[in-house]
Amino acid sequence: MAALEQVTALALACGFSHAGELDAAGIRVRAEVREACAVNKCKAYDANWACPPACGTLAECESTLRKFKRGVLLQTTGVLEDSLDYESMERIGLEHQEHLEAFTDKIRGLFPGCLLLGAGGCRRCETCTWPASPCRFPEKMISSMEAFGMVVSDVCRDNGLPYYYGPGTLTYTGCVLLE
Ligand code: SF4
Repeated sequence: MAALEQVTALALACGFSHAGELDAAGIRVRAEVREACAVNKCKAYDANWACPPACGTLAECESTLRKFKRGVLLQTTGVLEDSLDYESMERIGLEHQEHLEAFTDKIRGLFPGCLLLGAGGCRRCETCTWPASPCRFPEKMISSMEAFGMVVSDVCRDNGLPYYYGPGTLTYTGCVLLE
């Protein structure tokens, strides 16, 4: 549909390296992905309104997900000097966040009911208000694909977009579900 092509073009204009159409109806949700959140490698578990447990149970997240049929995958790819280049890993992550924020501000004007999912917890604020007080910017909140039980590499593969762009690269993936 033309709207998806426009959203893909908007994503690239916001700085994403790659964007591709997403069959939201075909997304599979896995309990083990959600269980892995509790291991808390990303330090967002029980620390962010956009992550478990604050974002709701997996069943509740899936119920939200099933309202959507179509969307767009959003990726930021960068180059690493070597496998220990943590500085570039952090920089690429920050770039992905910047692209997501720029895209979110525009896409929510076009599709007010859309669902934005990124990588890791919402980073709009330096410190999330969870659990002491309500989210400061619910219209800007970005949850994660993992919080919704998605195996990101599977979602990419199923929709014809690479998850890995080769040696010396790192890619962060998010998505927007539109309708
Ligand atoms: S917008 Fe701020 S308060 Fe709301 S989930 Fe994101 S970081 Fe937390």
